[in-house]
This record gives sequence, C-alpha cells and structure tokens, in this order.
Amino acid sequence: MAPNQIYRALDRLGPRVRRVETLNAYMEDAGTPGAIMLCRICGRIDALDVQIDTAIDRLCGAAGFQSARVIAEIVGICARCRSTEASIDREAREQPQ
Ligand SMILES: [Zn+2]
Repeated sequence: MAPNQIYRALDRLGPRVRRVETLNAYMEDAGTPGAIMLCRICGRIDALDVQIDTAIDRLCGAAGFQSARVIAEIVGICARCRSTEASIDREAREQPQ
C-alpha cells in the first residue's frame, strides 16, 4: 500500500485519529476539539480544549474568506521541559566555572 493510500485510509477513520500537520503524522484523538500543543523538546502532544474554530471562522467571515478547515497546532515547550530547563539554568548559575 502506498503512503498516500495509507493517509487517505487514516483520514477516513475520522474522529478516532487526528492528523498532526506540523509532524506530518497521525495521533490517537481523544475527541477533544480545539488545538494541540506540541513540545519541540520531548515531542509530547497535549490537547488544548478551546473553541478556536468558531473564532477563526468568525474572523475569516469578517474578512470575506470562507474557511474550509482550521488547523490549530501550537509548537513550544511543555511544562515538564520548561521545569527541567529552569533547573539546568539554576544549576549552571550556582556552579560558576
Ligand atoms: Zn517537553
């Protein structure tokens, strides 16, 4: 089966899987609408329960643009990695070389 066929089959599964455009990958979908947050350090993906589609549709409508699909993916650093980075920074400051 060619990759395009696999992607089309995954798309047909609909709400059970969610395409992650940023990673060109699929993840299990918990059914939570809204955006997803992707950690650029550890790769963790979490759902952000926010009704972003409605707001974007409204803004697009005001601009005369008809949206067909909203992709809301936020790339950043998760709380755990931020905490780890902060402790590494603290250790570096406490042990001057
Ligand atoms: Zn992380």
